[in-house]
Order: sequence, then structure tokens, then C-alpha cells
Amino acid sequence: MRGCKFCAIAEGKEEASVVYEDELTLAFMDINPLVPGHTLVVPKRHFPDIFSLKEPWGSACFLAAGRVARAVRAAFGAEGLDLLQLNGRVGGQSVFHFHIHVVPRYPGDGFGFFSKRRPVTREELERHAARIREAMEEVL
Ligand SMILES: [Zn+2]
Repeated sequence: MRGCKFCAIAEGKEEASVVYEDELTLAFMDINPLVPGHTLVVPKRHFPDIFSLKEPWGSACFLAAGRVARAVRAAFGAEGLDLLQLNGRVGGQSVFHFHIHVVPRYPGDGFGFFSKRRPVTREELERHAARIREAMEEVL
């Protein structure tokens, strides 16, 4: 969809630190991570939210989220991990292209629904992406 940030990433028109890709989905580092390793899984076709999401993209996204979760946990040694999927402005959604947040959890990470995010460099995103890509091989 024109003007959609995640469609632009899926089409290779906008930069992203990709950790996983298959025929239907793409996973890349969140540009404003809540914690190190925060990754997003999106369908390659535009669906605004869970309500409009169609098969086989829905199943593919959740399968990909599971694989990415295992890789993120392996790469970052996270003790826990949250999958967050927000819908609608009132639900906290800010990019209106369906996505699943894969958020590793650490003791005392202070993460919460209203946690502050911090800006990071592309280099840091790439380092984190490389760790997850490496771990991806181990968790297939
Ligand atoms: Zn889109």
C-alpha cells in the first residue's frame, strides 16, 4: 500500500535490519526497541490489522513469530519473552500494517505498556540483527 512504512520495507524500498524472511513474511528489528532484541514480524502483503488479516499470511506470521522468538531467546539469553500484537489507535497501534512484536524479557528490564523507548544507531540494530540471524540457524 502506498505510504505504508512496512510495505516499503517488505518491497525493499526502505532500510531495515532483517532477521528472517520467507515467501509470506518478513521479520526485522524495531527501530525504537523497548529492550535489546525487540523484533517485528509482518506479512509481505498489506493488511491493516488482525481484523483484516487473511490466510495464509496469518498462520505464516504466527509461525514466523515462534521461530523468531526462539532465535531471539537464544541470541540474547532472555529469561522470558512477550508477543504483543496491537490493533487500532486506541489499542496502541501506530503503524497500520499488521505486525507482531517479539519482545525478549530480562530481570528488572522495567518494561511495561508505557515504557520509554530509546533511539539506537543502525550499527546497533545491525549487530542485534546479526546475532538473531546467526541464532536462527540453531532454532529451525
Ligand atoms: Zn503495508
